Amino acid sequence: MNNFPASKSLTPSIHTAQQTNGPMLHLITHLIQRIWRRPVTLALTFLTVFLIAPLFLYHLLAYYLANDPRLVPSAFRTAKNILLVTAHPDDETLFFSPSILYRNDDATVTRGLLALSSGNYEGIGDIRRSELQRSCAELGIKRERCVNLDHYELQDNPQKWWREDLIEELVGEYVKKWNIDLIITFDDGGISGHVNHRAVSAGVSDLVNTYPKPHKAHQRTHYRPNSFYENTPV
Ligand SMILES: [Zn+2]
Repeated sequence: MNNFPASKSLTPSIHTAQQTNGPMLHLITHLIQRIWRRPVTLALTFLTVFLIAPLFLYHLLAYYLANDPRLVPSAFRTAKNILLVTAHPDDETLFFSPSILYRNDDATVTRGLLALSSGNYEGIGDIRRSELQRSCAELGIKRERCVNLDHYELQDNPQKWWREDLIEELVGEYVKKWNIDLIITFDDGGISGHVNHRAVSAGVSDLVNTYPKPHKAHQRTHYRPNSFYENTPV
């Protein structure tokens, strides 16, 4: 009687796999066995995989490849007047700073920020408004293009859906006024899911979809900061 049928059948299957995949599988198995037997090697391996490698990739993407044109859509590479539309002060820093800093050494590109509310849900709108100005200075956005609208109908409130037609109208005014050819804003899910973010996305989408064709404005939807973008010509 055989109580361990699995172990009996396992050995031949490994041999078969080794024969099939050749020296590579053998090398991997050998390395795993060696690492497992030596705690110092095991610790170094974990350190490399979970700390050194992520830090290396972070520096590579944040500093060395940050301005690589292959990582951004063509509309972003050619835009001259960029408008970032957000819902609250600090959205620009939390979600969009890598995007707004792209090509920041190019003097021919102008950047603007339109924050629709002062973020006064907890009564600190004045502080956040002044922080927004400092944030713009750090991001290379000129003072005259760093606008906090703070419209009475568009107040920071995670329970209130903002009127899309009003967003469309207000953003549209700045698109015309500043001759904007690229809009950066939230994705459909508002990146973080905040209802005001999602309303901004919907309002800007409406604007992009109805904007007269001769104006070459684009919507750039942020599916995930620093990852994938979609551009829809107006
Ligand atoms: Zn926000």
